Amino acid sequence: MYTYYISVGSNMGDKRGYINSAFQSLQQHEAVSKLVASALIETEPWGYTEQDTFVNGMWSCESTLEPHQMLSLIQQLEQEAGRKRLIHWGPRTLDLDIILVYDTEGMLISLCDESLVVPHPHFWERTFVLEPLYQLLPTFTYKGIKVVDRLAQLSV
Ligand code: ADP
Ligand code: MG
Repeated sequence: MYTYYISVGSNMGDKRGYINSAFQSLQQHEAVSKLVASALIETEPWGYTEQDTFVNGMWSCESTLEPHQMLSLIQQLEQEAGRKRLIHWGPRTLDLDIILVYDTEGMLISLCDESLVVPHPHFWERTFVLEPLYQLLPTFTYKGIKVVDRLAQLSV
């Protein structure tokens, strides 16, 4: 059994709708249990301001699926959201990233191959990932730093 922390984001169309339908699909999956969602936060885009605002959140769940099987599952959910897209190529309707994976003993798993890197390479730099993670896992500590302290560092 694995425990997953999965970040969710959307900046196009019915953003909360895409996120909620993917949540329901995951909830109905036979190999997924104890699915919990953080509150969704709105993040202003930076750089290209004509881009729509992002909605971001975090899910946690337990699953018997191996990390690469979980990657395939979330990619399938992204595809389902993409299929509803009616306009030409543009921002993502749904982006799901595996942020953290714990094994049955509660040990944080590290993996790095062509298709999957966990912990997610940029998660520790991103407020929009760490804020929802903090909601679900307030005691989380990485490389000796508490997530709450990391958020304070990033807001300076
Ligand atoms: P990004 O999330 O960086 O905007 P994509 O969603 O298009 O980019 O993902 C590109 C590739 O990243 C995927 O095909 C997947 O194989 C790879 N990848 C590597 N590590 C992860 C991870 N932890 N979670 C999700 N995808 C990952
Ligand atoms: Mg992604």
